[in-house]
This record gives sequence, structure tokens and C-alpha cells, in this order.
Amino acid sequence: MATVTSTKELRQFNKKRVVEALRNQDACTKTEVAAELGLSFSTVSNICNGLIAENLLLAKESGLNSGGRSPYLLHLNPDGRGTLCLDFTNPNRVGVAFVNLHNRILARETLSFTGLPRSFPELSDLIKLTSTRLLQEIHLSERALLGTGAVIPGVYSNHQRIVTNCTNPWIEGLDLKAILAEIFPYPVVWVENDANLAAIGASLFARTSPTVLFIYIGQGIGLGIVHKGKIFQGARGFAGEIGHIPLGDPTLKCYCGNTGCLEGILSVPGILRRYQKNRGAPSGDLDRKEVKDFLAAVSRGGRMITGLAEEVGLLIGKAASIMANIIDPEAIYVGGELLPFLKLAFPSATAEFARRVLLTEARSISLRLAEATEDLLYAGCAETVFQHWIPE
Ligand SMILES: [Zn+2]
Repeated sequence: MATVTSTKELRQFNKKRVVEALRNQDACTKTEVAAELGLSFSTVSNICNGLIAENLLLAKESGLNSGGRSPYLLHLNPDGRGTLCLDFTNPNRVGVAFVNLHNRILARETLSFTGLPRSFPELSDLIKLTSTRLLQEIHLSERALLGTGAVIPGVYSNHQRIVTNCTNPWIEGLDLKAILAEIFPYPVVWVENDANLAAIGASLFARTSPTVLFIYIGQGIGLGIVHKGKIFQGARGFAGEIGHIPLGDPTLKCYCGNTGCLEGILSVPGILRRYQKNRGAPSGDLDRKEVKDFLAAVSRGGRMITGLAEEVGLLIGKAASIMANIIDPEAIYVGGELLPFLKLAFPSATAEFARRVLLTEARSISLRLAEATEDLLYAGCAETVFQHWIPE
């Protein structure tokens, strides 16, 4: 809501500000909200009464006055609204979750495909059935939903209105925003890159950090850049698409036609290919069984796995040090899939990072492993939908 041109828009703008103010604190009175936002008491009072009627705010007497009526303390009702979040980061599964106004997950389910759906419409029917059932389980009505957010391992081009540069073939080339708007007619539909949403999620839990980076290792690799709670998109919307920067193995040919791309090693297929090559196995099409076998090998440990973890960690450390030197963030998170392996790789990542970040001040930049990336994706997704939501 960049410019306010009507009385209705002004009311919506102020309503959103009141919700935001109450979302960031435990409880306060109407007088305190009015003072914080520089609005009149009557404006805030009217808005709050409306929000109480909508079940978005809860009010109880504060008991602060010894004589007469005490002022009401207002709390946000975090479960008064929800957001449907869909995780499309892996082509073999779709995550469906409902998230409340405090970015807490109320219900979640992962649809894993044993027999692949035949088409995207079939997949979307499955998603719709699951979301309807979850909604009933948490006793939330469709009217209480702010919107739908989709996490994608690619870019949604607002200009071309399609998903591009995406490692999930189910959604590549689709106008996912339009499709989701038709299936889920809620106020907001937002489609956003996985690394960007992971960075938003991480920044929510590190509230003191205005600049946070997230290196997301999934079917590809992406970098999310968040500054003061907002995603840095770049001029054309693909800032952080670091998969094909030439920092990898120069002898390794990439599907993009070049050699030495970062994604050739720092991605789930890249790590699995390296693993297969090291053990002398033929590299065919990667499937879920191979991921399972690899993770079993990781838990067994051994010299080959340790060596691979060191090699991958070294590359993570190098990539992170370059980002640190360009952006100067408070923190850089690393996360995504294959977490047990990333844990093994992390010590060599932090050692290499420390070797390559030389400025004394920059040494305080912390490189952190994200232990629950899926939760961060859902939190970042819900937060982004909230940011775009305009109250009625
Ligand atoms: Zn490439």
C-alpha cells in the first residue's frame, strides 16, 4: 500500500498498522497503541473494536485502575487468522501447512508420491483435499485465511508471469500464481523463491539482525538476501541466483553448458553424484532410494564420507566468504536438504570461512547451520503473505 488515495484505503492502512503494532508485543492499551502510531484515540478505538469483532484481537480488563473502570489490555489473537503455505522445493513431495499470525505452524502434512500424480491438476486436487482436511482439524474457516504462499526452487517472474529457472519440473513454466488464485480464492497469493523465504524465516528468529543471508542447498543452490525484513530481489528479480557462478570443479560439465558451476557440487544431485563417483558407482538418474542410501552411509561415517564432507564444507566456506565480503551481513545461514551431511560438512565450512574473511570487523559475521529449514520456509512464507495482506 504505497500511496493512500481514498478514505477506505486510509482505514485499511491504519488497520494494518494497528495489527502490526499488536503483533510485535504482548499486550497494550488503546492509548498506548494510539501514542505509538501517532493516531487519535478514537481512530484506534474504532479499529480495535472492529478487530475484536473479527476475532483478531482479544481484550481483557487490565485491573490497573484502583477506582472506576480499568483500561482494556489488547492482545493479538495469533490463531485468529492463518496462511496456507505450500512447499514445492522437492519434485517428489509437496508440503502443506497452515501457519498462524505468529508464524507458528498449526498443522502440516507432506504429500509424498509413491505413484507420481499424472498431471499438475491431479497434484493440485491432492493439495486441495489435504488443505481442506487440515483446515477442519485446526477449526479455522476459509474466511479466516490471509492467503496462500508457495515456496519454489526457482524464480516467479512477475514480468512474464511464469515460474522460471526452477528445479521442480511440476511447476516450471506455469503461472503458479494464477493457478493457485483459482484453486484457493483467498485475499493474497504469493509465490517466492526458497532461499529468499528461508532468509526471511531466519531473520524473524534473529530479530536484532537487519541483514541476513541464507545459502539454501536443495535440488539446486540459492542465496536469500534479507535486509530490514525485506527480500532483496535485484533489478529483475533474480538476485541470489548463485547456482552457475564458476566456483565449483572446473572439470565438471554443468547442464547449463558451462563447466565449474557451484550447483554441480553444492546441491543434492551434485553431492549424490560426487558420492557415487567416489565409490565407483555409475551415476544414473537420482531417485529417493539413493538419497536414503546416502543418508545411511552418512550415519555410518567412514573415510570416504568424511572426505566428501570436507570437500563440500570447503566450498560452502568459500561461497559464504564471498557473500560476506560483498554484502557484510550480521549472519549467514546454511541449510536445506541432507541436514545430517551438512552437519558433517559444517566444521570445514566454518574453518574455511574464517580463513577467507580477513577484516577484523568482518570476523564477527557468524556462519550458522539452520537445523530446521522447513520450519523457516513456512515461517518466511507466512510472513511474506502477511506483508502483502491488506485488511478489509
Ligand atoms: Zn551451470
